[in-house]
Amino acid sequence: LDEQEAFDIEYWLLEEAKLQRMPKPKSLAGQVALITGGAGGIGKATAYRLMNEGACVVIADIDDAALAAATEELGKKFGKDFVRPVKFDVTREEEVLKGFANAVVEFGGLDILVSNAGLASSAPIEETSLALWNRNMDILATGYFLVSREAFKLFRAQKIGGNVVFVASKNGLAASPNAAAYCTAKAAEIHLARCLALEGAEAQIRVNVVNPDAVLRGSKIWAGEWLEQRASTYKTDKDGLEEMYRQRSMLKRSVFPEDIAEAIYFLASDMSAKSTGNIINVDAGNAQSFTR
Ligand code: NAD
Repeated sequence: LDEQEAFDIEYWLLEEAKLQRMPKPKSLAGQVALITGGAGGIGKATAYRLMNEGACVVIADIDDAALAAATEELGKKFGKDFVRPVKFDVTREEEVLKGFANAVVEFGGLDILVSNAGLASSAPIEETSLALWNRNMDILATGYFLVSREAFKLFRAQKIGGNVVFVASKNGLAASPNAAAYCTAKAAEIHLARCLALEGAEAQIRVNVVNPDAVLRGSKIWAGEWLEQRASTYKTDKDGLEEMYRQRSMLKRSVFPEDIAEAIYFLASDMSAKSTGNIINVDAGNAQSFTR
């Protein structure tokens, strides 16, 4: 090496070291996300993930106590100025309109909608009442429609594109025993996402889906009636169910709310800038999806 070459290399190494030391900008800094069901297991984990990337988050939920607790927890971790609770029921049009208007006032706009508020229900078809069928359709299909419609209006008005992520379910693709109402409503969500991806594309509004398989830890769904019904369908208890889902996965691993949040973050960020109308299954490789 001559003197000039040695100097150039030394200079380059110093510059590289300086770059390494510089704080990296957060990937969602300045962006606003609204998460329905934000006080629940997957919703709150998603709020954590997006806020960790610098996003301001509106958590929307129907459950007052859970909403207050989640707001306090997230505020303590990331700062009170970065999180706002908004209470609304996703099945009630007036509440959704008001909820979105309030959310926009809080942070001045919207970049990301995570439509996640939901439930799970199980009953053999002969025992599925019209009320149970309608409840699934109302919350899962109609609820997802109502919040997407408001997000689309905002995105179009802002003229900077937008991002919608649906939390649907593996059960929207694959039938699950004694859960026709739930599976059908989840399938409707997935198809709604495809239709919206097509409608939003020209305005750079992306719409994608995350399909979780069973997420037993942290989810309120797995603390109530659904747990009892699944336990009775598969003749086991909660631990047995968790083991069953683990064994049925190709990776032999359980799926946690944080795993779903990671996929949501990917779809909500520019990492997936060229993806729309697509589905990510987060199921540790459910072997039932493959023929052997
Ligand atoms: P969770 O019960 O912990 O959270 C759901 C949240 O949605 C709750 O906080 C609840 O208060 C809220 N909510 C329910 N109905 C509402 C309504 N009408 N309006 C507004 N908020 C409402 O459950 P989770 O496991 O976090 O589920 C989140 C989503 O993931 C749901 O759509 C669910 O169907 C889907 N999912 C869950 C699993 C799983 O095994 N946990 C698997 C596949 C799909």
